[in-house]
Amino acid sequence: MNKREFLKASGSMMAGALLSRMGVGQAHKEAAAKANRTNWAGNYTYKAARLDEPGSAQEVQRLVTSLSNAKALGARHSFNDIADSSGDQISLKNMTEMTLDKAAGTVTVAAGVTYGKLAPWLDAQGFAVHNLASLPHVSVVGACATATHGSGVHNGNLSTAVRAIEFVDGTGQLTTLSRAANDDEFNGAVVGLGALGVITRITLAVVP
Ligand SMILES: Cc1cc2nc3c(=O)[nH]c(=O)nc-3n(C[C@H](O)[C@H](O)[C@H](O)COP(=O)(O)OP(=O)(O)OC[C@H]3O[C@@H](n4cnc5c(N)ncnc54)[C@H](O)[C@@H]3O)c2cc1C
Repeated sequence: MNKREFLKASGSMMAGALLSRMGVGQAHKEAAAKANRTNWAGNYTYKAARLDEPGSAQEVQRLVTSLSNAKALGARHSFNDIADSSGDQISLKNMTEMTLDKAAGTVTVAAGVTYGKLAPWLDAQGFAVHNLASLPHVSVVGACATATHGSGVHNGNLSTAVRAIEFVDGTGQLTTLSRAANDDEFNGAVVGLGALGVITRITLAVVP
């Protein structure tokens, strides 16, 4: 092969590789958008190959023990790749139960509950949380896991209301940490950025 033939052949190989990479990227983007696989703002397309939507803590445990790499996905409001995974994403949007303990002044919600569901439900029973996310469809767990600030310079951020978390750790074990019983561990875990496991339920302090 002479110099002219070599340049022609390598030029078309490079163009082919570039086009095929662009094609794959475009195909991935289109497939992801079609399956609603972007974050809420649409500025980030998730790269995780699969999205799992378990309906119970036991299903989350089974998933975590069977997967080599996974991360919890909330309501997709983070503007970056923090909720993405090179393996699976686990969304708990189907887990939505809420329990108010008036005597203890706490509410326990499953990880699929959003502030838009929680606030009116609490209000109807004469209670509220001390601070709210900026948008109603943000999940309580996602906002607390990122120390989302809410509003008011004298109000603690949303995670300051957390009294307990129940989560499936990387080994598949279901663990509960509470402010009352596990001081240091709880303080270290409450703003976990999704890195400590999959939170299945969260308990918050409420105010009248
Ligand atoms: C570090 C950081 C700080 C932010 N601060 C603010 C702020 O102050 N005000 C504001 O309005 N927005 C803020 N945001 C934007 C953010 O979109 C939201 O506040 C909030 O995180 C969105 O919640 P989400 O339910 O959409 O969660 P996602 O955006 O889907 O996920 C957010 C994080 O929470 C984790 N997570 C979600 N569900 C679970 C679960 N079940 N178990 C374990 N981890 C879980 C994810 O793995 C991820 O790390 C912040 C984002 C980040 C990354």
